[in-house]
Amino acid sequence: MSQTRSLIDKQGKRTDGRTAEQLREVKITVGVVKNADGSAFIEFGKNKIVVAVYGPREVHPKHMAQPDRCVLRCRYHMSPFSTDTRKNPAPSRREVEISKVMREALEPALLLEDYPRAAIDVYVEVLQADGGSRCAGITAASVALADAGINMRDLVAACAAGKVDDKIVLDINDTEDKEGGADMPVAYMPHLDEVTLLQLDGILTKEQFTECFDKAVEGCKMVYEVQKQALMQKYFGNETELKEEAQ
Ligand code: ADP
Repeated sequence: MSQTRSLIDKQGKRTDGRTAEQLREVKITVGVVKNADGSAFIEFGKNKIVVAVYGPREVHPKHMAQPDRCVLRCRYHMSPFSTDTRKNPAPSRREVEISKVMREALEPALLLEDYPRAAIDVYVEVLQADGGSRCAGITAASVALADAGINMRDLVAACAAGKVDDKIVLDINDTEDKEGGADMPVAYMPHLDEVTLLQLDGILTKEQFTECFDKAVEGCKMVYEVQKQALMQKYFGNETELKEEAQ
């Protein structure tokens, strides 16, 4: 990641008009796939991702079952029309890696010991990609798992921060991801105050690392509010709005 042109203007505005502290618009809708046990659709900037959760259910092949816990399986997939150039529909090394880090980011939030010999399958389908799709996918997957009624310790909220023009900014977009100096995706359980994913692509000084990490965690906390609101909207509907209006 070596930057060749300026991505922040004189007014401090980024390529999409945001300030360094601003998140892209995040919208989550719960329960969009009727055949699934739980589901969510997230729009995170221009990212559009649908997540479907199936389970806990019987494990196939049977030898994969664990006697003392449930097996969590994640599949991150980008549809061929999700990027500018047609993406090969076959699973790429990047998708295999993201599926793995997604599973590892979600597992600490789940009470897998409550469902021995069973499996939970999480399908993350990227319909439109805009940088930060792994964070948006983890965020939507944790909401879909809650929608499926899986016992959880906390929700997992994910957000990246990064370095653009030697400045640490929140939630980097596709251009900043490709042309910027660094990208740090973080997944975090806000209630438990625990980090479940930390990746870094690029080079940061020790001070920049701390600033970037703190900024990403702040972003996760903002995303968490949207997650809670989306779940409340599905399960309490207009009741929440009515309560808010009454206050
Ligand atoms: P993330 O989406 O989590 O930031 P990456 O940093 O690996 O993950 O990818 C950044 C962006 O690169 C993606 O959001 C997508 O827009 C683009 N991209 C990834 N894979 C492909 C591909 N096979 N073809 C075209 N664009 C891609």
